[in-house]
Amino acid sequence: MRRPFVAANWKMHKTVAESVTYAHAVVPLVEAITDVDIVVAPPFLALPAMADALADSRIKVASQNVHAASHGAFTGEVSLEMLQGSGVTVVIIGHSERRQLFGETDAGVNAKTRATVGAGLTSIVCVGETLEEREANRTFDILDRQVRDGLAGLSPEQVATQVVAYEPVWAIGTGRNATPDQANEAHRHIRQQLVSQFGDSAAACRVIYGGSVKPGNVAELVGQSEVDGALVGGASLDPTSFSEIVAGSRSTAI
Ligand code: PEP
Repeated sequence: MRRPFVAANWKMHKTVAESVTYAHAVVPLVEAITDVDIVVAPPFLALPAMADALADSRIKVASQNVHAASHGAFTGEVSLEMLQGSGVTVVIIGHSERRQLFGETDAGVNAKTRATVGAGLTSIVCVGETLEEREANRTFDILDRQVRDGLAGLSPEQVATQVVAYEPVWAIGTGRNATPDQANEAHRHIRQQLVSQFGDSAAACRVIYGGSVKPGNVAELVGQSEVDGALVGGASLDPTSFSEIVAGSRSTAI
């Protein structure tokens, strides 16, 4: 049994004050939903205030990125120790925007993932093909490489407690979500790769879907046997919309 996992990725949206207002609004909306893991990833600056505002709730606070090193001359970067000191327990790693706009590689994703998991935090490792790669029938090759290289070096026990987000690049922020069948097929493939790499226990790793998830499509997507939740961008910025997505993820078939 894999417990549904739903994460909000705000990207570069909301001031600290707006983040706290959101926190106060969303807590009562999801209070009764006790069978879903709920995570919110605000911008770095809002992390301590969000951790405070959500301290008495079951909502966990995530960062959208991290640096793999513990400290040093890395201008503009943030370490795991700093994140932990700000109440962060989950880290999004290798989002396609970071891969495409900031040059992140599979090796960089792997360094961040190993550091994050080694420090006892939960990683959400993002993988996904571009439209060009899908049309060239390279989707499974891309997913295999990103999963294999991104999670290399973790133990089977560690993999079982992590999260992989399948986010087809062509579905992110476009309003065009993968069909439930497309998502389920990709998720099944990712899980097969995890099991072949780490053994049967890796099947417990939750594989969540991201790409234009909305209140109106979440139940069908997360209702697929291999889809364990959602990573939500645009539709997570409004607390009501996000709470509806959390509620919709409960109708999962897992
Ligand atoms: C994302 O940012 O991870 C994402 C899936 O965005 P959106 O929901 O807006 O497509």
